[in-house]
Amino acid sequence: PTRGKQQTTDHPPIHPVDAPSKKLGTDQEKIYELICRRFFATLAKDAISETTEVWLDISGETFTVSGYRLIEANWKHLYPYFKEKRKQIPELVSGENIEVVKITLKKDMTKPPQRYTQGALIIKMEQLSLGTKSTRHEIISKLYSRKYVMGGTPIPTSTAIAVVDALINCDVVKPKMTAKLEADMNDIAEGKKTLQETVKESRQMLTKVMVELEPEKEKIKENINNAVKAQNTIGPCPKCGKSLMVRVSKKGKRFVGCTGYPDCKNTYSLPQQGGLTMTTKACDACNAPIVQVKLKGRRSWDLCINPECPKKKKKIEKTV
Ligand SMILES: [Zn+2]
Ligand SMILES: [Zn+2]
Repeated sequence: PTRGKQQTTDHPPIHPVDAPSKKLGTDQEKIYELICRRFFATLAKDAISETTEVWLDISGETFTVSGYRLIEANWKHLYPYFKEKRKQIPELVSGENIEVVKITLKKDMTKPPQRYTQGALIIKMEQLSLGTKSTRHEIISKLYSRKYVMGGTPIPTSTAIAVVDALINCDVVKPKMTAKLEADMNDIAEGKKTLQETVKESRQMLTKVMVELEPEKEKIKENINNAVKAQNTIGPCPKCGKSLMVRVSKKGKRFVGCTGYPDCKNTYSLPQQGGLTMTTKACDACNAPIVQVKLKGRRSWDLCINPECPKKKKKIEKTV
């Protein structure tokens, strides 16, 4: 077990202080168990294992295999969440002849990397020294609330892409700059740097960025405006063919309206609760646009915005 590479001074690691006095809920119990197990594991003895590397020569081609055998589990007994992929292999002696039982030819492709999950993003941020343990998840939820990303596995929206395009050449968006600021703040805390020094440096850096961005102001504004519009556009109006857009009424209620207004008065109501994501999909029953609705704590679902949709009628008939 390890106590981590870094000593955190701002937020001490989470640890159990007592046994729960009453029965915990399922999720709470799971988290409590995880924290306790983790805590005890840090105090346990190192695990002892044996690994074997084998090189096999089959008709002049070299094949390798690695084996793993756990001798003393120790901390792994307390914290059994790591899955060992390597298997235990039979004992072999160098130079031994073994029988080839089966040969299979496998064709595969190198797969592109998958999207970052929220968990993987937090690890990446840690590697780049962005944020602190207590702010990283907040940074990610801000990306959601400001509609820079959508979906369970975050996907950038057109607004996010426009903002990044506008700022890509500026130091402010480089992880290096944020990491430097974090390091500076640590240095201030430890008395290695003064507040004034750091503020002065940051000002100079930001001034430089502003000077660079100022002449581009109008262009950036236009690009971002267009991106926001694209993000709120949800396909063609079935009545007039112009684009449908998410709008907010005077009373603050969101709805879908036609960009052909006032000539076309076609509107659809939207659920007022939860996150909305526009899709490019159209309903297979009525051709009206589909939006994705996400309520807190629930899986997102596709919703046809047409209240007259034949699919919905079927559902109602069934439930009656
Ligand atoms: Zn219309
Ligand atoms: Zn429909």
